[in-house]
Amino acid sequence: MALDLVILGPPGAGKGTQAERLARTRGIEKISTGDVLRKVVHAGTEVGRRAQSIMDRGELVSDDMMIEIVRERLHRPDVAGGFVLDGFPRTVAQASALDAIMRGRAPLIVIDILVPEPELVRRLSSRLVCDDPQHGSRCGGHLVHRADDNADVVRERLKVYHAQTRPLVDYYRARPTFRSVNGAQPPDRVAPDISAVIEEMGSSAVWPRCDEGV
Ligand code: AMP
Repeated sequence: MALDLVILGPPGAGKGTQAERLARTRGIEKISTGDVLRKVVHAGTEVGRRAQSIMDRGELVSDDMMIEIVRERLHRPDVAGGFVLDGFPRTVAQASALDAIMRGRAPLIVIDILVPEPELVRRLSSRLVCDDPQHGSRCGGHLVHRADDNADVVRERLKVYHAQTRPLVDYYRARPTFRSVNGAQPPDRVAPDISAVIEEMGSSAVWPRCDEGV
């Protein structure tokens, strides 16, 4: 059965790092909407310029645009074996559109990475990323500060997270395929916790049975 994962969590929680590892170790596609947008910005089109000014302020790009990007991506054949979404959904509207897109596939496994706010601020203000958008978020190449990792924008991104993205935890919490993991530890410790959650779900009866008509 396809492994379809959503990684939730505030900016700086380590979603990108864990999504990258999961994609590599499980042989599934990583879909990071932040990386997709940074490529659109890099292309220098009018849409890219509009997205850039929104991202530079730490606000969210429109649901319509993000849902279209993800819908198109999830219809490509390479996600047949599974995917891990990083940075999407970020609003309840995006989550409910994702449920519609997912109809007929395996249930989404949703993993929320928990990190206390002071730790997030500390991580974001010291974060260095690759300056080549083709490389995604981390590659070991030229390392720069992300434009939206400065103190004012970090504050705004955390505010936007609490107002618009945190409610997703309530949207998903009642599902048997929702789990939280402790993200306030090194990435090498978070990864096995996530793996344990995935194995546990694979071996327990959280999947709807076919005679339940779901
Ligand atoms: P990230 O790399 O996930 O932190 O995303 C960087 C920025 O891209 C965010 O601060 C938003 O401005 C924008 N963005 C990424 N994903 C989404 C999304 N699903 N919905 C709206 N805006 C997004």
